[in-house]
Amino acid sequence: MAKIRVGFGYDVHRLVEGRELWLGGIRLEHDRGLLGHSDADVLIHAVCDALLGAANMRDIGYHFPDTAGEYENIDSKVLLRKTVALLASKGYAVGNVDVTVCAERPKLNPHIPRMKQVLAAVMGVDEEDVSIKATTTERLGFTGREEGIAAYAVVLVERAALACEGGKPL
Ligand SMILES: [Zn+2]
Repeated sequence: MAKIRVGFGYDVHRLVEGRELWLGGIRLEHDRGLLGHSDADVLIHAVCDALLGAANMRDIGYHFPDTAGEYENIDSKVLLRKTVALLASKGYAVGNVDVTVCAERPKLNPHIPRMKQVLAAVMGVDEEDVSIKATTTERLGFTGREEGIAAYAVVLVERAALACEGGKPL
């Protein structure tokens, strides 16, 4: 029987003028963008943290430090691809992903099918295994005041029973 594990991720980035808005691996038209060392794709970062958590492999900042020049303005899809590869090195494959993004604006629902398509391709899973949901926080809190966007993610990963580590069946 395959071993299954769950992981949880949470991330926040500040919304500022003069930045592009990248969310779920695509660029959205908006008057502000998320601030960060990378492209600040808060949705992808939450997924990466959930994946790393599921495999008990620390977090995104540990593997891709924002002090490293190589990650400056990097496309977060690259970080997600590297995260999936890190998990694969420990024998884990992505099962399914479920994300909730909290943003007052812009309207995200029209863009969700494209985000699912893009993220499924990056992670090498079916679109059916990637769920993305968007909600406002009823104008409450920092997301409601449009000071930032938050994302929560849970994932399930599987380790194949036939995989071997050091000659011993897992
Ligand atoms: Zn982040």
